[in-house]
Order: sequence, then C-alpha cells, then structure tokens
Amino acid sequence: MTTKLIPYGRHSISDDDIAAVVEVMKHGNLTQGDRVPVLERALSEYVNAPYVTLVNSATSALHLACKALGVASGDLVWTSPVSFVASANCARYCGADVDFVDIDPKTLNLSLDALQEKLLQARSKGRLPKVIVCVHFAGLTVDMRRLRLLTAEYDIALVEDASHALGADYAGEKVGAGRYSDAVVFSFHPVKMITTAEGGAVVTRNETLHTRVRRLRSHGIERDMLKIENKEQPPWYYEQVELGFNFRLSDLQAALGLSQLQRLDKMVVRRRQLAAQYDHSLQGLPLVLPPRGNEPETSSCWHLYLIRLEEPELRLALYQYLHKHGIGVQVHYIPIHFQPDYRQLGFEYGQFPQSENYYERCLTLPLYPDLTDAEQMYVVERITRFFKTVARSDSP
Ligand SMILES: *Cc1c(COP(=O)(O)O)cnc(C)c1O
Repeated sequence: MTTKLIPYGRHSISDDDIAAVVEVMKHGNLTQGDRVPVLERALSEYVNAPYVTLVNSATSALHLACKALGVASGDLVWTSPVSFVASANCARYCGADVDFVDIDPKTLNLSLDALQEKLLQARSKGRLPKVIVCVHFAGLTVDMRRLRLLTAEYDIALVEDASHALGADYAGEKVGAGRYSDAVVFSFHPVKMITTAEGGAVVTRNETLHTRVRRLRSHGIERDMLKIENKEQPPWYYEQVELGFNFRLSDLQAALGLSQLQRLDKMVVRRRQLAAQYDHSLQGLPLVLPPRGNEPETSSCWHLYLIRLEEPELRLALYQYLHKHGIGVQVHYIPIHFQPDYRQLGFEYGQFPQSENYYERCLTLPLYPDLTDAEQMYVVERITRFFKTVARSDSP
C-alpha cells in the first residue's frame, strides 16, 4: 500500500475514452474538425445554456471572458484570494488591475458580506470593479442569486470561475446554466471534474458576448459572410477585425472530453459518496470538515475535499507524515496576494485575514472517482493514527 502514491486528485480514463481519441487519429481531423462543435453542443445541453466555446484552458477562457466583457487598462477586477492564480491573472492580461474580497470561512467562497461592504467603500471612492470573478471553491457554488442582486445596482459583470464545479448543482440547475452571471468558465485539466488533458470552456446566455469570445479564440478573424460588411467578396475571403489569439482546443482533446462527459454524472455520484464517507470517518478528530451546501438546492460536486486543522502548527507534520506513507495530500491554495508577483503590485500579508487563516490550516485529502474504498480507509487510518500517536508524541 505504501509503494503506490495515492494522489489528491487524478483523472479517470476508460477504454471508451481511448477508443474515441484513436478514432479521431485514424479517421478524423486533428483540429478544426467536428469533435469540437459536437462537444460544445453536448456541454450546452448538459448545463442547459445556449452558447459554449471550447478553448485550450480555463486560463484562456477567463482571459477571453474578461476581454469580451470589455475589461481594459484602467479597469478593476475583483476575485477571491483563495483560488488558483489564473482567477486573478485574467484581469491583468487585459491590462486591468486586480483586487480581492476576503473569503467566508463558512463556505470558503468570496464573502458576500465583505463584498457588500467593499462595494459601498468603492462607490464612495469612485473605484468600482468592472467585473467580479467568483470562484465556486472546491465545487460548492457561491450564492449567485444574492451576488447578482448585490452587483446589479452597480452594473458590475459577473464571471463564474467554475473550474471546480462542473457537475455541481445550484438552484435546481447544473452550474453553467449561468442565469445569474454573464459568463461561466470550466477547466478540463486532468485534476478537474472531466479532462481533455488541457482545455476549458466559456459558457454564456448572451449571444453578443458569445460571438466576441468565438472571434477572439481564433485570431479575431471573422469568416461569417453575414457579419462582413462588404458582401461582394471572393469565396476565400476572411477579415481580422480585432487582435485575437489562437486559444483553440484540438479535436483529439474534444473527443476525449466528449467521452468523459458521458461519465460525468457517475463520477460526481462517486465523489459525493467518498465525501460522505470522509465526513463520517473523520468525525471526532481535531479538524474542521469541509462546508456543505444547502442540499439539494446547492450541492457540491466535490472537486476537492478540504480539511482544516484546529492546530495549524501540526499541518506541516501531518503533510509530511502522510507523504511518507504514500498519501499525496496537497494545499489549495497559497493565497494569490502572497505571490511575489502580486506583492510587487503592493499586496501584503495581513490584508485578507480569513483567507490567511484558512491557508495556515488547510489540507486537501485524496478524492477522485477511481479512489477505492480500501484506499480511502487507509487515508483515514493514517490521519487517525497521526492524531492519536504522532501528534501527541511530537508536542512538548
Ligand atoms: C485549474 C483552475 C484554473 C485554471 O485552469 P486551467 O485549465 O489549468 O487553465 C482556473 N481557476 C481555478 C479556480 C482552477 O482551479
């Protein structure tokens, strides 16, 4: 058991996944074929939103969503400090500035109370954000209805960073339905809910935004004759109408994603089962267990199972102890404002106390669809043993 490392997260690949990719290699187009639009339609049906654009990563998806919403130099974008750096970097790609809203320790998402207060202050200073990127942390959604109500009066656009949340439920629908935001972003990195190796998507209900995102994905080039002003053009004609990118996903990747999507609901069921088993078996240890939504209205898809140690001094020892025994626990995340590249912008320790307090004690336990019950029991056993013996003997 100790020879094989149990990671904190891992993709699940089936024979069907492999066959789907091989099929494209043998008979399909490697890129710009039909697999990308087919996966776009399948995702659109899954989340019940009309417009989906696949791109090469969630980082690109966040970048395009911000750019298509008009984020530019002089603008401000707010997000949560407890996220992957990409949630904030997207604003900077557009030349805008970033600021953060502290988290709510009860949900680990951006605190709506803190946001309400910060919005009032920002209005009096005349420095309101253009966009808020709200992260559905670990797969549990932000209360989008309240967030939309809070931001609507300031005319602030909302981008849901749902990189963790494909398959999660909110208000009777799947995350991605996007009724309370302008765009929703997903990631298909191997540790996320489904994978295309690298990949992401922008989902929206806004046709204008969608058209802009699609054009920006492919160099800012327009090929649709209906959208080109002078119709008297030869058949090979296209126009670059703005400076775009090459953020396309390949058909090899889309074929993998399409096959994975067929199993998503099953994988979510397994993740929920594993989370419930952890909740049950870790009771009574000096830990704060992860937040749950108001189920079934708000139900996490359990991208990550995050524990918080009551005694932060023990976190490093627990991390090392578990790694020594083949359990690859991880820390999600170092707060973005701690990064040197953000500190050089003026951010400092102490600015977002709830995020910092969370960071000092958090640890991510293994959770992924192929984790077996036996492996999970081994993880629980080791954690229990740590608190019963190691932690005791180590403390003075
Ligand atoms: C993984 C992740 C991203 C970036 O996703 P990529 O597809 O790797 O670019 C962005 N935001 C969050 C919250 C993530 O977890």
